[in-house]
Amino acid sequence: MNKRRPILITGGCGFIGSNLVRLALQKGYSVINLDKLTYAGNRSSLAGVEAHKGYTFVQGDICDLALVQRVLEEHRPSGILHLAAESHVDRSIDGPEEFIQTNIVGTHRLLVATLTFWKSLPEPEKASFRFLHVSTDEVFGSLGPEGLFHEFTPYDPRSPYSASKASSDHLVRAYGHTYGLPVLVTNCSNNYGPYQFPEKLIPLVINSAIRNKPLPVYGDGYNIRDWLYVKDHTEALLLVFERGKPGETYAIGGRSEKTNIEIVRTVCALLDELHPRSDGKSYAEQITFVPDRPGHDRRYAIDSSKIAVELGWTPRTPFEEGLRRTVLWYLENQPWVEDILSGKYHMERLGTAKEA
Ligand code: NAD
Repeated sequence: MNKRRPILITGGCGFIGSNLVRLALQKGYSVINLDKLTYAGNRSSLAGVEAHKGYTFVQGDICDLALVQRVLEEHRPSGILHLAAESHVDRSIDGPEEFIQTNIVGTHRLLVATLTFWKSLPEPEKASFRFLHVSTDEVFGSLGPEGLFHEFTPYDPRSPYSASKASSDHLVRAYGHTYGLPVLVTNCSNNYGPYQFPEKLIPLVINSAIRNKPLPVYGDGYNIRDWLYVKDHTEALLLVFERGKPGETYAIGGRSEKTNIEIVRTVCALLDELHPRSDGKSYAEQITFVPDRPGHDRRYAIDSSKIAVELGWTPRTPFEEGLRRTVLWYLENQPWVEDILSGKYHMERLGTAKEA
C-alpha cells in the first residue's frame, strides 16, 4: 500500500472510525476523515490527533455526490475505508429513513464518485487502489443454538439497520463485479471499547449504573452476541485493506459469545470492584428486564477462520481484559460522556465545524 498518498476514512468521528483513524496514523498513514457529524459523530473523540500533520478533517455527507467528488479530486487517496453509517438498530426501528439514505444511497454515491476517480488514476495507482466496505454480521440474520456465520452464509437481514447494510454490501460487490472496482467487504461482530456512543449496550450499562439509573435488559437477557475489542477490529481492517484480495469478503469475530445478561452482570461486577456504590450494594440491583426489541435476533457468532488462515489475524484481546479496559476508560473519561449526555458536544459540533 502506497503510504505517500493519504487514505480516506468515512465516519472517522464515530466509535470504530475514531479508533481506526488513530491506528492508521500510528502506522504511518496520512488520513482524510470525511464525516457528516451526525449525533454519533464526535470530533472530541479525535482531540488528540487533530493537530497531527497527517490528519485532515472534512465535514461532509457521503450522500452529497459533488462534495465526495471534490474530496477525492483534491486529496487523491490511495484507497478508501468506508465506515460512515447510521448504526443503531433501535433507531432504525423508530425511523428507518436515515438508514436508507446514508447506508444505501450514501454508499452508492460514494461508489459512483470512487469509480470515476479510480478510472482516472494512472495504472500502478489504479492497481493498488482498494475500497474497503465495513459491514456487520447482522446481515446474516439470526442463528439457532448451533452454527456460525461465515463468508458464504446467505443473507437474511431482519431489521431496517441490517437490511440497509445488506443492501450496501450488495452494491459494493456489484461495483466490483460489474465495473472491476477493487472492493473488499468485511462483516464483523459486535464491537466494544473506548469512544462508543453511550446508547450502545456496554457504555449504556456503565454510564447508567454510576448515575444510579436502571440497567435495562431486553426480554429474558439470553440473546447472544460475539464480542470483539475495537482495537482488534481496526487491526483486522487495516490488514484486509493492505493484504486482502479484491473481490473477497472477510468475516471478523471475537470468538467470544456472551448473553446480554452475562455482559450486564460482568460490567456490574467490575464496577462493584472499581467504583463501588456508596451504599455497598451491587450495581446488579439496578438491572431491570424490559419488553424485547421487535425482531430481536437471538444469536450471532462468527467463524473467522478465513482471515486467520489467509491473513494471519486472530483476536488478541481476551474479553475479560478488554471489558476491564473499557470500564476503566469510561470511568476515567467521564467528561467525554458528560458532554454527550448534556448535548454540549452537539453545540460544539454545530459551532466549530467547518463545511467542506
Ligand atoms: P457510529 O454510529 O459510532 O459512527 C458512525 C459515524 O458515521 C459517525 O461519526 C457519523 O457522524 C458518521 N456518519 C453518519 N452518516 C454519515 C453520512 N451520511 N456522511 C458522512 N458521515 C456520516 O458507528 P460505528 O459503531 O463506529 O460503526 C462504524 C461502521 O462499522 C458502520 O458502518 C457499522 O455498520 C459497522 N459495524 C459496526 C459494528 C459495531 O459493533 N459498532 C460492528 C460491525 C460493523
